[in-house]
This record gives sequence, structure tokens and C-alpha cells, in this order.
Amino acid sequence: MNQNKVYDMIVVGGGPAAHSASLYSRRKELDTLMVAKEEGGQLLYSSEIDNYLGISDVEAFDLVKKFRNHVDKYGVEKLDDEVLKVEKNEGLLELATEKNATLRARTVVIATGAKWRKLDVPGEEEFTGKGLSYCTTCDGPLYANADVAIIGGGNSAFEGIIDMLPIANRIVNVDIAPEPIADPVLQRHVENSEHMGDLEFKGYYGHEIVEILGDDMVTGLKIREVETEEEKTVDVEGIFVEIGLIPNSQLVGDLVEINDAGEVVVNCESKTSVDGLFAAGDVTNVPEKQIIIAAGEGAKAALGAYRYLIHQ
Ligand SMILES: Cc1cc2nc3c(=O)[nH]c(=O)nc-3n(C[C@H](O)[C@H](O)[C@H](O)COP(=O)(O)OP(=O)(O)OC[C@H]3O[C@@H](n4cnc5c(N)ncnc54)[C@H](O)[C@@H]3O)c2cc1C
Repeated sequence: MNQNKVYDMIVVGGGPAAHSASLYSRRKELDTLMVAKEEGGQLLYSSEIDNYLGISDVEAFDLVKKFRNHVDKYGVEKLDDEVLKVEKNEGLLELATEKNATLRARTVVIATGAKWRKLDVPGEEEFTGKGLSYCTTCDGPLYANADVAIIGGGNSAFEGIIDMLPIANRIVNVDIAPEPIADPVLQRHVENSEHMGDLEFKGYYGHEIVEILGDDMVTGLKIREVETEEEKTVDVEGIFVEIGLIPNSQLVGDLVEINDAGEVVVNCESKTSVDGLFAAGDVTNVPEKQIIIAAGEGAKAALGAYRYLIHQ
């Protein structure tokens, strides 16, 4: 990495969106630098992936290896660092990093992803991946005929319930609000589901999570009714925390348009509100946070940036 150099494209991130953007950038023979805090992204916290087209039943770690090898084949320059701030300076984009580097580029793709919003209760860290998950789309099928809890009362939680209706034996929905705030259409979908007759569904609204319980694996959760402070234990084999994602958009928070959810707003060409600055994957307002979508969006952002450079 050369601090005096002006790169054609700097890709910030190390997940599927960043790998895909870097690959597409190098295939256009652009001088490309990929800056990642931790290469692999959310895949590092996943187990088996079975919804990436053409590669079934793959361990998440092996998929990361495949992404990395593919990008390395094209000689993408990489920097292991965190970008703290992106600014526009004399027509170029300037990036300040945690290790005190100042990087400059004609175009930048922000692919910094998101982190799952956590409950922050005892047992959460310990049982993540041992019965506690943040993604029904990803891990739901592992809980066939099991008793599960879905935490949250918003759209993500209700989409999670809909995912689990044909799979689980019993679903417990816990939310701190007195009633769910998911879109009525999702709530009706759950109430009227044909699967409701085959399983037990119980809502604990106005309840907060006190602790995740287990031995080697999750065995249940302790909840407390907000109004009465009465505590109870609910036995389940799986827990899905579906209380939303926090986009990693702070680095461009002062520069580009960000929506109420904290996501970088992009148009269908992956452009942000700032010339030369593109974004892709879970950090953006593009709906559905999935690996294949992030990878596709990464490719689109890099091609958009390439076209922008040609027109400059
Ligand atoms: C437990 C779990 C299971 C999942 N299972 C599946 C599944 O089965 N199928 C599926 O399709 N999806 C699954 N997902 C969702 C999927 O992982 C994400 O949609 C996808 O990884 C998003 O890719 P991304 O590149 O946008 O961001 P991320 O994967 O979040 O990567 C972001 C990258 O940016 C880096 N970064 C962040 N901030 C900075 C910064 N300031 N400077 C430098 N680098 C930075 C991070 O270190 C990371 O490398 C799962 C997610 C989780 C958490």
C-alpha cells in the first residue's frame, strides 16, 4: 500500500460485497485497494450456507476462502485496517484509517456491512451458534420440529415467525413492547397461516429478556414482565434474536445521505449522494440482507464506479 498513490478504486469492507466489488474492479484493470477490518464479514459468524446459488452445503469459512482465493487470483491489493472517515477533498475521496494512514482514490465503494443488534443479556455471547442465532433465513431449517423463541415484535421478527411456521413444533414470540409493531399484513399472515393449526404459538408481549439459559446448548430463556416484574422461564431449543441490524455507516455519516435506519442510501446504480462514492451490501438501503444479494450489489457498484471513471 502506497500512501502517495491515488487509487482508481478503494473498496472498504471484507465481506461478500467487498470481495465481489474488488474482483469486478480488477477485471476492469483498475488500480484497486481493498481495506478490511476483518476479512470475511458476517460469514465469520455463520455456520453452513445452503442458499448461495451453485455452491450448496458449504461451510461459511470455506465460502470466505473461495471468495478470498478468487480475489487474490486477480491480484487485488489489500490493507488490514479500519476506515474511520471518508471525505471529499479536491475532487478525490480521502480515507482516514485507524492505523493513521491517509488513502486517496477517484472512486470508493463502501461495503462495510452491518452487525446484528444484540440483546446484551447474560448467556447471549456464550450461546451464539449453540442454539442462539440472529437469522431464521439462515439457520431456521436446523430447528425442524423444535420449540423455538423469536425475540422481537417488528417486521424482521414476524418474517422470522413466518419462516419458522412450517418448520417448528412450538413458537414463542417475546417482545418488550406491549404489542407487536410489525406491519399488519405480516401479523395477519401469521394469524391466518395454515400452519397455526399444527403448532403451538404463544406471544409474551410486554416482556423483556433477562437471561439466555443452557448447558452445552440453549435450553431456554428467562423473561420478565415489564409491568409486574414477574419472572418466568420458557423452555426452548432454539432462540432467534430478530431485533434488527445496525449498519456500519458511521465512516460516511457526515458525507452521504443516510436513512432513518442508518443505511447508506443508494440508487439502482449503487450511487450514493456523493459523486464517485458507491455503496453495496448490508450497509445500504437495498432490501434483503443476504450473501448472494451483497455479492451482486458489490459487482454492480464496481461496474458503476468503472463507468463513472470512463465518463470523467
Ligand atoms: C449468523 C449469520 C448467519 C447468516 N447466514 C446467512 C445465510 O445462510 N445465507 C445468506 O445469504 N446470508 C446469511 N447471513 C447474512 C449475510 O452474512 C450478510 O447478508 C452478508 O455477509 C452481507 O455482506 P456484506 O459484504 O454487505 O457485509 P458483511 O458481511 O457485514 O461484511 C462487512 C465487512 O466490512 C468490514 N468493515 C466494517 N466496517 C469497516 C470499516 N470502517 N473499515 C474497514 N472495514 C470495515 C467488516 O470487518 C467486514 O469484513 C448470515 C448472517 C449472520 C450474522
